[in-house]
Amino acid sequence: MSDLQELMVGSTRVVALKDGELTLPKEILLNIDEETTKKLSEENNQLTNSQINAYLIFKNEKILLVDSGCRDLFGPTCGFVHEEIAKANVKPEDITDIFFTHLHPDHVGGSINKDGKAIFPNATVNIIEDELNFWSKDDFEDIEVNGKNMADLNKSVIKAYGERVKTIKTNQEIISGVFPVPLPGHTPGHSGFRIDDDNISFVQMGDVLHTPNLQLSDPNISVLFDIDVEQGLKSRKKAFDMVCNDRIICSGGHILEPKFGYLDKFGSGYKYVAI
Ligand SMILES: [Zn+2]
Repeated sequence: MSDLQELMVGSTRVVALKDGELTLPKEILLNIDEETTKKLSEENNQLTNSQINAYLIFKNEKILLVDSGCRDLFGPTCGFVHEEIAKANVKPEDITDIFFTHLHPDHVGGSINKDGKAIFPNATVNIIEDELNFWSKDDFEDIEVNGKNMADLNKSVIKAYGERVKTIKTNQEIISGVFPVPLPGHTPGHSGFRIDDDNISFVQMGDVLHTPNLQLSDPNISVLFDIDVEQGLKSRKKAFDMVCNDRIICSGGHILEPKFGYLDKFGSGYKYVAI
């Protein structure tokens, strides 16, 4: 029996895929208060634990893969998305569509092999127009955290999928009932996604949070990976507010387990409650 976590949103089936787990260095955190700084110095604290997620969405005859994990780029604890896809009884050639929430290596790396070949031979690759335009530039000297390496990887992905790459607008349907949720800041075109089916909704909040054990209770904490920290903060607050106020089942690109839950108000922040 598969240990994959899944959710039905009306007639749409969503399966969470865990590409892997890692502990992020505390040096990537921004806006941390004194108390948190102290807790972070304690041995074996779990505050910066993170996981890398991708999703399969089954709707009518379509199988949509959202993000593709990091392949071997982040070490031995990650890169398992293909095993996860197999557990769901899906073959790479069955995937009809891909949507990248943004073009960071932990979201696009698993879509090509080490030789730069496309792993999903029949998939149309949907990328938000602003995101593709941003990474298609040539000058990344001033972007933090190896911007040039990321741009090179992205160019390899775009090349591998060639004519099957499709740019979409932020309000454009990806497959039936699945729409991007624009949450700019982390990257210019960064988006989560939303499913509305049979009066039920689900929102995946993308990378508005990387360290759930910290950023849910204190949404003011940002990470160095956000290209525009101020805008990223606004998007994080907007996403948390929306799923909390509307009682929408949510998930995220780096949420821990369980993969599906609600956000409840908790003090000046939020608490994640499993469904
Ligand atoms: Zn990410």
